[in-house]
Amino acid sequence: MSYCGSRFHTVRRPTREVAVGSVKVGGTNPVRIQSMTTSDTQDVAATVRQSIALAEVGCEIIRVTAPNVQAARCLKDIRAQLSAAGWGAIPLVADIHFLPQAAMEAVEHVEKVRVNPGNYADKKKFAVRDYTDADYELELERIYETFSPLVKRSKELGRAMRVGTNHGSLSDRIMNRYGDTPLGMVESALEFLRIAESHSYHDIILSMKSSNPKVMIEAYRLLVQRMDAEDMHYPLHLGVTEAGDGEDGRIKGAIGIGSLLMDGLGDTIRVSLTEDSVYEIPVARAIADKAMSLWRPVPAAGPTTDSIDPYHFAKRATAVLDLGDGATVGPENPPRVIARVGSLEQLPAALAGLNSPLLKDTPAEGLAVPVASPAELLRLRDLLAATPARASFLVLDLAPALRPADLAELAGAARLRLVFLRRFAGAEGAELAAWLDLAGRGGHFVAVDAAPADFAALAPALPGHSDRLLLTYSGAVPAGTDHPVGAYRRLLEIARTHGIAAPLWIRNTVGTTIRGDNSFLSRLIEASLLTGALLCDGAGDLVSLETEADATRATKVSYNLLQGAGARISKTEFISCPSCGRTLFDLQTTTQRIRAQTGHLKGVKIAIMGCIVNGPGEMADADFGYVGGAPGKINLYVGKQCVQYNIPQAEADARLIALIKEHHKWAEPEPATA
Ligand code: SF4
Repeated sequence: MSYCGSRFHTVRRPTREVAVGSVKVGGTNPVRIQSMTTSDTQDVAATVRQSIALAEVGCEIIRVTAPNVQAARCLKDIRAQLSAAGWGAIPLVADIHFLPQAAMEAVEHVEKVRVNPGNYADKKKFAVRDYTDADYELELERIYETFSPLVKRSKELGRAMRVGTNHGSLSDRIMNRYGDTPLGMVESALEFLRIAESHSYHDIILSMKSSNPKVMIEAYRLLVQRMDAEDMHYPLHLGVTEAGDGEDGRIKGAIGIGSLLMDGLGDTIRVSLTEDSVYEIPVARAIADKAMSLWRPVPAAGPTTDSIDPYHFAKRATAVLDLGDGATVGPENPPRVIARVGSLEQLPAALAGLNSPLLKDTPAEGLAVPVASPAELLRLRDLLAATPARASFLVLDLAPALRPADLAELAGAARLRLVFLRRFAGAEGAELAAWLDLAGRGGHFVAVDAAPADFAALAPALPGHSDRLLLTYSGAVPAGTDHPVGAYRRLLEIARTHGIAAPLWIRNTVGTTIRGDNSFLSRLIEASLLTGALLCDGAGDLVSLETEADATRATKVSYNLLQGAGARISKTEFISCPSCGRTLFDLQTTTQRIRAQTGHLKGVKIAIMGCIVNGPGEMADADFGYVGGAPGKINLYVGKQCVQYNIPQAEADARLIALIKEHHKWAEPEPATA
């Protein structure tokens, strides 16, 4: 059963409307933007100040942590002061972990309560034990007893509720039966949902968050499939937890949230950044606006399904292409990065720039350059003869007027592997065959840039050529209703049906842009949506970011996109929480300090968490964890195992580094380069 109306169009999933105070979520309402305060909730003035700051920049729903009953009581004053300041229409959400008593207090004061099914009724902490069916039933009865009072009171008061599952904090019961999986996350929420429905309470929104975009994408899709099967139509709150800060945090958030919004899923979103929460709002706004601009009615015709399994990640099987100098492309290889230069004149500098210290660990493996005429081909030949070739391969973006005969000399003499990139119309089968012939004779390749309809006409002649071909599309979203991800999915589906296993080159171009203001943020989100959604589908063997004029910058961002999607790790991975009122140290400065000391450890994953709420489960994905244990005290983890408790914060950085060394993951940083 499909989880969405179309994977080629954005058909919004129909949901029931849930009123969060005066803000309605789901149904026909726009995607709502939300965030969270980071102040101590019992510091009422600071929390009101932060809430107003968030409301002023466009946050529509504000979450405040209620870690205990005293904090939950403070929500009454926070609500009253916010309303008195003229922000009565902004709903507040109490964030609850562990304490039903805090939830019962909070529900009296705020418009919505968020519960985490992994810890609402579970006092024990991440123990491993076996549950018989009888044990499991007893557990469900216990949850029913613990959760029902909040459901009943929410119903009486007209409050909304979020059942917010986190990948990192699944209950022992769920872990035992389903493991640390998207299915476990879904079952965890459904257990609570069924209890709420047994009381005829339906004002519920659900979330399935993880710091890993692939996991959260799969979990939300699975949740919708399961809810549809049970005739449940609750709205979704989307988010990637512990996404980190800066460009990396924005990329991760956009990949996870954007992929689902393009599927038509999602009614309210939060972009979690380890930054002041006001900075989350423009990012969330831009992602939501792009997605909403894609909303379409159900298409009358066209494909409704593809062969990609949306619930389980598997990399697409492709032919293996040796593009030269170690840049092999194929299922066992990481996606390769291509940098584009705007003209032949820029090529020598770009070739030299590949040796830039800035790109030491992240070099562009291919350079793409436009070639418009036979005269330019001669200049290119001379340039290549005069410039030591540092790229693994060179992509020639050929004007349609150029013929294979024009390139015969260059193709025969080139010291680099060449990729002939050309836009093909559906009627140009003979032309494509001539280019393939030229490529085959010189050990070169052809990148077919074609709209899906054109590719469908070309495809019948291509099955025997997968080892010489790359597939791509850089043009405007085809006429009709496709989004760029849908256009690429169509290419892949056409390739599959014709037995074409050519690798896919994801090109982020002005043509593939959905809409936006051409700011860097807008371009970054666009690239995250297209590249991330496809990589999380398991498709994509080469990537280029052609919306950036600076090839060095484009290369850096391309590697960050690959890292965000978990497709190619080129630097330390930081999983850091956005902080909230539970935070036990300054997340922003701590993250920056630890990054300064460990940012050179390629491939090492370090989790930096303000507290243990999202817990060891989230750190199972990390090699090391730095977690607030008590005020001024840090706990250090190796994987999900706490190995050092209550270290004074002043010693924690050094102890973390010692731990990394002990586990043979340390490397000395190279001396700074001028
Ligand atoms: S992990 Fe961070 S954001 Fe999550 S509850 Fe703890 S301090 Fe707050």
